Amino acid sequence: MKQKNQVFDNVLDLVGKTPLIKVNKVTSEFKGQFYAKVESFNPGHSSKDRIALYIIEQAEKQGILTPGDTIIETTSGNTGFSLAMVSVIKGYNCVLAVTSKSSADKIDMLKNMGAKVYVCPAHVSADDPRSYYQVAKRLHEEIKGSVYINQYFNQLNIDAHYNSTGPEIWKQTDGKITHLVACSGTGGTISGTAKYLKEQNPNINVIGVDAFGSVIKKYHETREFDEKEIYPYRIEGLGKNLIPTATDFDMIDEFVKVTDEDSAHTARQIVKSEGMFVGYTSGAAMQAVKQLGEEGRFKKDDLVVVIFPDHGSRYMSKVYSDKWMEEQGFFDSINVTSEKIQYI
Ligand code: PMP
Repeated sequence: MKQKNQVFDNVLDLVGKTPLIKVNKVTSEFKGQFYAKVESFNPGHSSKDRIALYIIEQAEKQGILTPGDTIIETTSGNTGFSLAMVSVIKGYNCVLAVTSKSSADKIDMLKNMGAKVYVCPAHVSADDPRSYYQVAKRLHEEIKGSVYINQYFNQLNIDAHYNSTGPEIWKQTDGKITHLVACSGTGGTISGTAKYLKEQNPNINVIGVDAFGSVIKKYHETREFDEKEIYPYRIEGLGKNLIPTATDFDMIDEFVKVTDEDSAHTARQIVKSEGMFVGYTSGAAMQAVKQLGEEGRFKKDDLVVVIFPDHGSRYMSKVYSDKWMEEQGFFDSINVTSEKIQYI
C-alpha cells in the first residue's frame, strides 16, 4: 500500500482502520465508558469490506482466483456490495444471491456496483432449492472459474476479523477494553475479534447480539438446533435459521436477544443523540447494551466497545422511513408527536 498525505492508489487501501467513537448520551445513565467501532468508515460503508478483501486476497495468494474469474456469494447486501467493490478494482465478475428481505436500495446499490443479483425468497428453509444458499451453490456449479465465498461456512471470515478488527480495537483502547458487544450474523465479526482480544486478555467479556426468531442464542446455551426458535423477523444481517461454522461459539460468553422494534428506535436514538447515522444492526447492538445497562451489568471502570456494522443510508426505506415504522406498528406503543415528521 502506497499512502502519503491521505492520497491512495484505490479505495481498497482504505479498508479497515476504522475509528472508535465515544458514545456520550445514549449510555449516560450507565456506569462505565462506551465506544462504538464505526464500520461505516470503510470505503464500502460496512464491516464486510474487511472480509471481502481478505478472502479474495487469500484466494489470489493460493492461485485460485485470476482476473476474469467469477465471485459468487449469498449476502444480505453488505457482503455483496463489498465483494462487488473489490471485484471492480481487481477485475472479477460478481454474482450475488440475496434474500427478498434486503432493501430495494441495497439491491440497486449492488447492481450499480456491477454485480449480477438474484433475489430469493427469505422465509424458506436453508435446504429449499429456492433459498439463497442453494441458488448460490447451483450457480457455483454452473459457472466455470467461479469461487464461492460462502461467508457462513468460511474460516477466512473469522480470520479477517482476527487479523484486523481485533488488533485495531486492542490498540485503540490501549488494551483497556473490558466488554465487546457485537451482532452475530455469520458470526465472523464477533468470533474473530473476540479470539484476538481474548488472546490478549482472557477476562474480556464477549456478548453476542441475536434476534428473536433466530436459533443462535439457544444453540449457544444448549448446543442443540431448536427449530421452534425460528420465525420471521425484520432486522437484516443479524441472527440465523441455521448454525454457521463461521461462528466460534466458544469465543462468546453470552447472547442477548433484541426485538425489531427496540432496535429500530435505538438506531433512531443514536442518530438523534450521537449524530451518527447508523444501520439497523447498530441499533440492535446498542439496544443490547441498554438492556445490559438497565440490569446494572456495567461498572465504573468498564470500557465497552460496541460494533456498529454499517451506515444508516442503507435503511432509508425501512428504519428511517416513518411510513415503514408505522406499518410495522413500531409507533403504536409510544407517543410519537416528538418523534414523527409531518408527512407532506
Ligand atoms: N450487521 C449487518 C448490517 C450485517 O450485514 C451483518 C452481516 N450479515 C452483521 C451485522 C453481522 O456480522 P457477521 O456476519 O460478521 O456476524
